[in-house]
Amino acid sequence: MLHTIAQPDTVDVVAVLREHGLKVTAPRRAVIAALAAKPHAAVDEVFELVRQTQPTTSLQAMYSILGAYVVAGIVQRLEPAGSPARYELRTNDNHHHAVCEKCERIFDIDCAVGAAPCLIPENAGDFQITRAEVIYWGLCAACEATSRQATEASQAFSASEHKLLS
Ligand SMILES: [Zn+2]
Ligand SMILES: [Zn+2]
Ligand SMILES: [Zn+2]
Repeated sequence: MLHTIAQPDTVDVVAVLREHGLKVTAPRRAVIAALAAKPHAAVDEVFELVRQTQPTTSLQAMYSILGAYVVAGIVQRLEPAGSPARYELRTNDNHHHAVCEKCERIFDIDCAVGAAPCLIPENAGDFQITRAEVIYWGLCAACEATSRQATEASQAFSASEHKLLS
């Protein structure tokens, strides 16, 4: 199944802003660039990146630009439990997210179905479902490797300890 994925590097920022009736300003462009560089960034992370080229910008400006982008559908906002709101340019492809329980990094997971809503409950009554928000929780590859090494190390340690004692 083909997905329409807005690849940040191919996004014509100026065209997208004009299409949504938003004035093209340097901070607005910098916010898009920041999200392209760091998908699923929180507001303060966007602010850190934007400040590098727009030193006079404010955190409040980031909130208002991101808010306008979400309303316009240029940016998608997600809010995993226990995490601040995150923003990304990948919209309208019904993709899902996997959150690492250890390092809290967020990963994109393609939707197996591809179109919303991809999960239909047994009985939703009269409720008209438009989409399902799916968040997978688990361990990312890096954290999984670290925890496996730690387990192996502690097993090796107790094995040598055992040898010393016997
Ligand atoms: Zn992790
Ligand atoms: Zn995503
Ligand atoms: Zn899905």
